[in-house]
Amino acid sequence: MAQESARVAPETMARYEAVIGLEVHAQLETLTKAFCGCSTNFGDAPNSNTCPVCLGLPGALPMLNARALELAMRASLALHCRIQGRSRFARKNYFYPDLPRGYQISMYELPLALEGWVEIALEGATKRIGITRVHMEDDAGKSLHEGFPDSDRWSYIDFNRCGVPLIEIVSEPDMRTPAEAYTYLTTLKQVLEYTDVSDCNMEEGSLRCDANVSVRVRGETKLGTKAEVKNLNSFRYLAHALEYEIERQIGVIEAGGKIAQETRLWNVAGGRTEPMRSKEFAHDYRYFPDPDLLPVSVTEAAIEEVRRGMAELPDAKIARFLREYALTPYDAGVLTATRALADYFEAAVRAEAPAKPAASWISGELLRRLHDAGKEIEDCPVTPAALAELLAKVEGGEITAASGKKVFATMFESGKRAGEIIAAEGLGQISDSGAIEKIARAVVAKSPDNLAKYRAGNEGVFKFFIGQVMKETRGQANPQMVNDVLKRVLTES
Ligand SMILES: [Zn+2]
Repeated sequence: MAQESARVAPETMARYEAVIGLEVHAQLETLTKAFCGCSTNFGDAPNSNTCPVCLGLPGALPMLNARALELAMRASLALHCRIQGRSRFARKNYFYPDLPRGYQISMYELPLALEGWVEIALEGATKRIGITRVHMEDDAGKSLHEGFPDSDRWSYIDFNRCGVPLIEIVSEPDMRTPAEAYTYLTTLKQVLEYTDVSDCNMEEGSLRCDANVSVRVRGETKLGTKAEVKNLNSFRYLAHALEYEIERQIGVIEAGGKIAQETRLWNVAGGRTEPMRSKEFAHDYRYFPDPDLLPVSVTEAAIEEVRRGMAELPDAKIARFLREYALTPYDAGVLTATRALADYFEAAVRAEAPAKPAASWISGELLRRLHDAGKEIEDCPVTPAALAELLAKVEGGEITAASGKKVFATMFESGKRAGEIIAAEGLGQISDSGAIEKIARAVVAKSPDNLAKYRAGNEGVFKFFIGQVMKETRGQANPQMVNDVLKRVLTES
């Protein structure tokens, strides 16, 4: 294996390109499982959410959860897929201790939806990534090999996850770099969260990702042999595993070797992919239509109903924010990163915050403080109405922008309203031109050298004088007034 870990020279790497496709599993946000009434609640006592259906006991009959189908349809529409009028569940047969039925219920030859796409934005350019298919399936249980006093001898199994509804979203091999794959997964997550299809909680296993990776010499159109990399359960793992795998494959080819078609596992501790097993082929699973479940039939009317009930998607929201609020593309992008953040912004605007300043305050001050405090927008101590009240005071000239930031910091820490803080700390803006002039004259008198420079045509020192006046007034002087007064004082004195 020595050749596999050897670093490949950058010039050699540059002669190749990677071809990446992702298979993403997302847990549908239902209260109950895909084919029975057991709860899907995460963290319940092991094996407490089980019944004859999800344990696969003889004679138990599964019945499709209508809500799961609706969410899967919603995801398909959000990903611009064509929902098929007729799809069908199949049995994917394999043996594993966490799969008591001996088969997974999954769609195979007739998936729910086909031929969609998502658009990703990367370094100022956009690219469309094709979606091959979206199909429904159920999850397996979980083997627990650690954490028990007798874990050295026994493994335990928790069947609570067994039968939890998933969708699998299979992309076309349209990605060429780890960064594109990372952005695709981010975009997919955003779409699934926006539409309430999945909470996409990676720690709880609600979003999982496998990658198909191959490499080829640039200019070549034929696909190379691919490896499937599993266990990419965080964005960071995905990027690292792809980087490693691409370099490994190039190394193998450069050394005259051949890429094996196999399944590999990302070893987090070792920072490398490792062979897990040679790749199974579809025929190994002996797929056949599940005789216990009726084919899924979806009418045009049902598709329309799902479409009508769908929340606005990220792309549409960005376009609307640009149009309706005249935001910069940057602010529109930041504010629509999550639905909660976009809702916060619009609530502030409804509370009469001016849109553009609200956008820059939220994408700047507010997000920075949330980040530093390790909080999400849902837990923001400053309500949209309170932010609107503060912005009205800044925009109306009652306090300066600099004081506004101080007031905001106090609001964030104390939960107090802006008016209260301004009164208590005496932060009202100084708009008395006589008072400002007095300070300006004193500042100028203290710096004859800089005055001489200004008069000799050095406009740069003007900023110095502005800074001094603002310092003297603790940032509370009306900036426009300071500007006007100083210009007058500097030319006449
Ligand atoms: Zn059950």
